[in-house]
Amino acid sequence: MNAFPAGDALVRRDLSHLWHPCTQMHDHQTVPMVPIARGEGAWLIGTDGRRYLDGISSWWTNLFGHAHPRLAGALAEQARTLEHVIFAGFTHEPAVALAEELVRVTPPGLERVFYADNGSAAIEVALKMSFHYWLNQGHGEKTRFIALTGSYHGETLGALSVSDVALYRKTYAPLLLTPILAPSPDAYEAQPGEDPAAVARRRLDDLRALLERHAHEVCAVIVEPLVQCAGGMRMYHPDYLTGLRALCDAFGVHFIADEIAVGFGRTGSLFACEQAGVSPDFMCLSKGLTGGFLPLSAVLTTPRVYEAFYAEYSAGKAFLHSHSYTGNPLACRVALETLRIFRDEPVLERNRGLASHLAARLAPLRDHPHVADVRQTGMIAALELVADKAGRQPFPAAERRGLRVYLHGLENGALLRPLGDVIYFMPPYVITPQEIDHLVDTAVAGIAQAVSR
Ligand SMILES: *Cc1c(COP(=O)(O)O)cnc(C)c1O
Repeated sequence: MNAFPAGDALVRRDLSHLWHPCTQMHDHQTVPMVPIARGEGAWLIGTDGRRYLDGISSWWTNLFGHAHPRLAGALAEQARTLEHVIFAGFTHEPAVALAEELVRVTPPGLERVFYADNGSAAIEVALKMSFHYWLNQGHGEKTRFIALTGSYHGETLGALSVSDVALYRKTYAPLLLTPILAPSPDAYEAQPGEDPAAVARRRLDDLRALLERHAHEVCAVIVEPLVQCAGGMRMYHPDYLTGLRALCDAFGVHFIADEIAVGFGRTGSLFACEQAGVSPDFMCLSKGLTGGFLPLSAVLTTPRVYEAFYAEYSAGKAFLHSHSYTGNPLACRVALETLRIFRDEPVLERNRGLASHLAARLAPLRDHPHVADVRQTGMIAALELVADKAGRQPFPAAERRGLRVYLHGLENGALLRPLGDVIYFMPPYVITPQEIDHLVDTAVAGIAQAVSR
């Protein structure tokens, strides 16, 4: 690690005062803090000139590269025009134009847009709106939510309540609502002889059984469509979403699609729900919404939900959830420009080529003695690193094998940030095939180091 000068002034100032997310700060006694000066395309450039290929789109936010000139230009122009205005009683062009565009590009039926300023806040909005819809319909007994095992929906208390990743949840469990957990259709958990569609069918049967018992007290089922990202990039068959839509209709509960990570082309289609041909009752968007420039989120819902709140003031049915920066013009303007890039450029078509190159480069790893699974959905690919391939036995978590891959990546110009021992790739869409080669080569060498000793 002496390749990273501990004496770097910026790092010293950082470690004197800052507290970073998802970090045991003590780790920075040995793990380098990486000071970044600027970004350019798929690359991050350190204060010392070192370059890191951003293989994880800076926590899945970036779509078209860092410091994208078109997005930067739109932001600068908006900043000189209107930076912010209260969004209760007031409105502005970027918020309206973005809402129109979101309604146009999302699955049919989603016609109403509520803004918030990060992914977790969008989940809070969707949960409260679903509950409040049923209350306004005279069903105040519906107070619970069904979530999938291995799900992640954010880390504020409501969003964490419907999440099932122990690392984030366990400590705070005493503070949380208790969701009803339905087993995930995760294809990695297939039984012998089952293909992903068969896993989806079996898990739909499980969900049906839960709904038979609990539908009367349930507001909504919340899922991450196609890929459970923070839970380890676990992937499942679109039939599950088709079946979920039918079950929600049959049992009178809402379907909340959390497309915060998978939206905006990550899975191959603009939205993951499209691959199942379904429209949810609520769709949560954030992360790629602004191309990775600014925090913003949106919850889209149906006229039916909206109308359940629309009444005389005295009826007391209004939805109550307000953030100071709701509908921020800067963020809305950049999001609108992001959608215009999708409109003007063949993004999804280009991604198909990149995704198949990535697939071809990862295919040989299926024979690797410590890789139990190679899976991919569009521009998301993941490898499951294990101690024993035949028994799919993981390495003891305390050995932190994935961390070794991360460190190897930093030393070799690649930002790979495994989720435990799941090594994954979720690059910006401007990555080139040669850059994909660099990412994969670095990961393969990192894995070789991580599994030795
Ligand atoms: C990241 C994420 C969230 C939370 O978004 P934040 O902006 O980090 O609060 C929610 N759901 C999913 C699926 C995510 O990946």
